Amino acid sequence: MKWDLSAFYQAINDPQIEKDLTFLAQIIEEYTSLIYRLENNIKQPAPIETVLEKQIEIDLTIDKISTFAHLAVSTDAKNQAARSLEDKVEKLITNLTKPSVTFQKWLASLVNLKELIHRSDFLKAHAFHLFERAENTSYLLDEEVEQTISILSQTGSNAWTKLYGTLSSTQLVEITTDNKTQKLPLPIVRNMAYENDPQIRKIAYEAELKSYQPVEESLAAAINSIKGEVIEICKMRKFTSPLYESLYHSRLEKSALDAMLEAINESLPVLRKYLLKKAKNLGHAGALPFYDLFAPQGELSFKFTYEDAQKFIIENFQNFSNELSGFAKHAFQHKWIDALPRDGKRGGGFCASSKAIKESRILTNFTGVFSDIGTLAHELGHAYHSYCLKEETTLNSSYPMPIAETASIFCESIIKDAFFQKATTEEKIPLLASTLDDAIQCIVDIYSRFLFESNLFEKRKTSTLSVNELNELMLDAQKKAYGEGLDPHTLHPYMWACKPHYYYPSSNFYNYPYAFGLLFAKGLYSQFLNEGKPFVSKYQELLKITGKNKIVDITKSVGIDITKKTFWQNSLKLIEADVNNFCAL
Ligand SMILES: [Zn+2]
Repeated sequence: MKWDLSAFYQAINDPQIEKDLTFLAQIIEEYTSLIYRLENNIKQPAPIETVLEKQIEIDLTIDKISTFAHLAVSTDAKNQAARSLEDKVEKLITNLTKPSVTFQKWLASLVNLKELIHRSDFLKAHAFHLFERAENTSYLLDEEVEQTISILSQTGSNAWTKLYGTLSSTQLVEITTDNKTQKLPLPIVRNMAYENDPQIRKIAYEAELKSYQPVEESLAAAINSIKGEVIEICKMRKFTSPLYESLYHSRLEKSALDAMLEAINESLPVLRKYLLKKAKNLGHAGALPFYDLFAPQGELSFKFTYEDAQKFIIENFQNFSNELSGFAKHAFQHKWIDALPRDGKRGGGFCASSKAIKESRILTNFTGVFSDIGTLAHELGHAYHSYCLKEETTLNSSYPMPIAETASIFCESIIKDAFFQKATTEEKIPLLASTLDDAIQCIVDIYSRFLFESNLFEKRKTSTLSVNELNELMLDAQKKAYGEGLDPHTLHPYMWACKPHYYYPSSNFYNYPYAFGLLFAKGLYSQFLNEGKPFVSKYQELLKITGKNKIVDITKSVGIDITKKTFWQNSLKLIEADVNNFCAL
């Protein structure tokens, strides 16, 4: 049940790897000299075509080597040869930055770009990519300034990010359970939120909050410095705000985000009803305490074998289309999946798709519980997305965060739905509960994080924030999002110290895409349930164009207007129906 990587290379010592590395260095050189030889005021599209073709060749070569190296490392952390292969490719890639910027600026300088594109079918197929790159130029600074920023960020924001990483990965939590006091890593203590014993959940939460105190000043310095730098650079690039920069890179209109947030805001009272019901189920007199957000409700006792899981997925993907089912069968049969946990293999699950071999590989740590089947379906959804993009070039295939989880959540929904319909009433309770717990995180908690980050940027414009102010800002955001659903005396003031997303200087507002992803996929899925089979081809077409359009235009292709609140309300109604269902069970 290990995956087969021979479509890339026979092994890590395959002599073809060295040949491909040499080839990569050579085509990067060719690409560079092509760009430095470009003339101003061209009359023919050929020079642009040549650069794009060369770039695709480079992309495919990088893809082949680095996907192979990444996959090899992910199942064998000690594979030093694969690690150094990753480094070698990384080093070669840095040579691309300068010529790429030059090309971009040159593109933007062409007054006849539109006309040139129209005279070539190849360029027409890449019009979105070309216009986007030309437009990006308006946010680029002079080459020297860009270089200075990149050098200084090594000792600025990037250094703070590294400090955050070091502090949080070495953070120990002193915790006393069963009269035994020990110091445990933070992730282990946070995981105790899923424990059956309510006492352990509470103790873990209290111990976790205490454990931030020794590092709070350093973390506050880090978040203040990172956000401060982001604000200054956004200003220099003439982005109206960090939020606008994030939306720009997500190819998303502000009106769509506003419509979604408004709908979420309206839906909060119903979602809080679930939290109150959960509090009651767990024996609390009032609202739910923060430490019981993830508390399990009921237990799913059965287990699947890996063979059963495959059969279940292949069978139920048929509810959507024979093609999706056949695709999953092909992936299982042709060893695309490394399914079971073993020593040296990383945890969790992921899907890596390769344009070079036009196939995907999926890593999971299957143990047979229900959520493992959900993970398998989820990753197969990512693979199917890439399959729909297989005829597109590398330049037309990368899609932004908010729609990256569309196909995966969609496939997960098919499987969960199928399972739910066959489940007994006892089984339905834990199934619904875990779906709703996930939804609360994706909608309500994400909403609190969005509010916090918006306010943080606003306040950071004029001054740095103390630990106390950061805590207050977080508590305030949580109160606004969770409202009467959570006990205001047991919130999580240190969430700004807990979530790494606030410390990535190039991915600000790494929160709303989660809510967008869930609600958009849910909306699509309900459209499928309404329309049935005629929806299938529309869905495939939607996935096919995700890498070469703005999100608004992608969704329009299936008749969805994401700038209208109604679409988001309808998706939220599906979750609200789950809440009512749960309360009735
Ligand atoms: Zn995913």
